[in-house]
Amino acid sequence: MKHAKIIFTLVWLVTVFSAKAAEMRIDPAFWWTGMKNSTLQLCVYSNGISNFTPTIHYAGVTILKINKVENANYLFIDLKISESTLPGKFKIIFTSTGNNLSSSYPYELKPRSKQDGITRIQGVTSKDFIYLLMPDRFSNGDTSNDVVVGTTDETIDRRSLKARHGGDIQGVLNHLDYIQSMGVTAVWMTPVTENNQPFESYHGYAITDYYKIDPRHGSNELFVNYVAAAHSKGLKVVQDVVYNHIGNEHWFYKDMPSKDWVHQFDKFTRSTYKDMALFDPHASDSDRNVLSHGWFDKHMPDLNQRNVFLATYLIQNTLWWIEYAGIDGLRIDTWVYPDLEFENNLIKAVLLEFPQLGIYGETWVQGIANQSYFVQNNYVNLPFQSMLPGVTDFQLYYATQDALNTDFGWESGSARWYRMLANDFVYKDPNRNVLFLDNHDLSRFYSVIKEDDSKWKIGITFLLTSRGIPSMYTGTEYLSHNFASLSAIEVRQDFPGGFPKDQINKFVKEGRSVHENEAFNYLSTLANFRKTSSALTTGKLMQYAPFEGEYVYFRYDSNQSVMVVMNPTNKEIKLDLNRYYEQIKSKNVRSGIDIVTGTIAYFDKEELILKPKSVAALVLGMRGKE
Ligand code: CA
Repeated sequence: MKHAKIIFTLVWLVTVFSAKAAEMRIDPAFWWTGMKNSTLQLCVYSNGISNFTPTIHYAGVTILKINKVENANYLFIDLKISESTLPGKFKIIFTSTGNNLSSSYPYELKPRSKQDGITRIQGVTSKDFIYLLMPDRFSNGDTSNDVVVGTTDETIDRRSLKARHGGDIQGVLNHLDYIQSMGVTAVWMTPVTENNQPFESYHGYAITDYYKIDPRHGSNELFVNYVAAAHSKGLKVVQDVVYNHIGNEHWFYKDMPSKDWVHQFDKFTRSTYKDMALFDPHASDSDRNVLSHGWFDKHMPDLNQRNVFLATYLIQNTLWWIEYAGIDGLRIDTWVYPDLEFENNLIKAVLLEFPQLGIYGETWVQGIANQSYFVQNNYVNLPFQSMLPGVTDFQLYYATQDALNTDFGWESGSARWYRMLANDFVYKDPNRNVLFLDNHDLSRFYSVIKEDDSKWKIGITFLLTSRGIPSMYTGTEYLSHNFASLSAIEVRQDFPGGFPKDQINKFVKEGRSVHENEAFNYLSTLANFRKTSSALTTGKLMQYAPFEGEYVYFRYDSNQSVMVVMNPTNKEIKLDLNRYYEQIKSKNVRSGIDIVTGTIAYFDKEELILKPKSVAALVLGMRGKE
């Protein structure tokens, strides 16, 4: 009788464990051989898993260490994957301590992918022109995923800017030709990983599963197809990644590995968002603490990246997506708020495996010193040196707004551009900074310049001919307008024509007004020229101090020279061409052809008249080459 009872218990336990094993989750779900870093840490999540011991029998794979944490539902297994390890499948056997129960989990090491011997990951550089879009608001290419059972935000409602609208990856896939036609070379979608949050989940910045594409956007497989399709059309892919915070419905937040997985306060404490505390020599510890550890929002717990298991989890997740999908660039959200040492380690790990990858961080700060602190810079003896290659250049964004909206003066009008770019000496490489006129958080550029078409052209010309990586938020091409409030929902409107039953379709010429087509054509002519222009993408920049409100600069290399002349003021300005001797006369330049209109400007008169609110980007013809 007693014997039977033991057998019954054993059978019961095996049954229970098998059921639990079916729910076991291992992140990353698979990995690759041939990675430069030969170690891998598996995060195993299953009920009571810390009472089990994992074993692996596969040539080249060794368990270095088994890490237990506060929560018995987790095990972190350190693996060594030797250089000679062959790709293949094996089982991880989990055996219980004491009663010899065991279960197994299938694991795979895949070969690293190559296409025709060349890595498919291309990187994002100043040769690119980035198009930013919010997938929920761009196009609904698959209505069958609009409402997914089991997700918490279960309805779509296009009348509410806070609700999901049904846009998805298929919608972006369907319009890659449109995006490509504008001269764009890279697409940056706001995050598409799972955001299973009860409300306002459309924006994607409250991630609930780092390894899974949100089912309302598609699937992991569809994302991989999207990247391949983009590559086949000459478009690169930027992934928007978030390490500072998660959604409070994240599976690992609901059952945390340890109490220090997120930063905790006695009562809800919001970040001060005051980046100064990080470099201010006079800062207090309490300001530093609340800035970095305060929560981004009530439903966005602040991750503690100093927890080594979490840091490894986030870094491996990043590497996993790049290798799995073939991503070319990373846009790192809220770069200022996570642990900066962790972020440096992340950059190091990414560039070790993918040296060509383009990386830029969002640094929504005020001031050149502030911004340059968070990116590779030329300061010496700083206690902290950021390894971030590039930033979203908010300082140049502010300068552009002022250049177009204030009267010319010592520090205003076009002097803002001149003074700002003169400060480029602080950056290790200012060409890795990302330029923009607006984005998904900011008032639309067209509204900011009071819907002035001439100023719009000046702004677009600056964006596409100044140094750095230009990026444009969707809608700019059809003069989308609106002002952003604190939650910015007003600038996150649907792309007309992207959704079933849309009356207007701005994806096609016929759906845009004459006025909008003029803007569209201006932008795409310039951007398509830029694509193959060595001067505008990788050439040097030489700028001239403005004296009357004009702004003149040259982009040039040994093959090509482009002269950009702007007059944002309301009066005519006469340029004395002798001032630009080193770029014109000394090179025997006689004329320049306007990239957009094709008209020729002759330089034989030593004077160039700039009409009020005018702009021209001129490709300089050289004597003897004409
Ligand atoms: Ca959909």
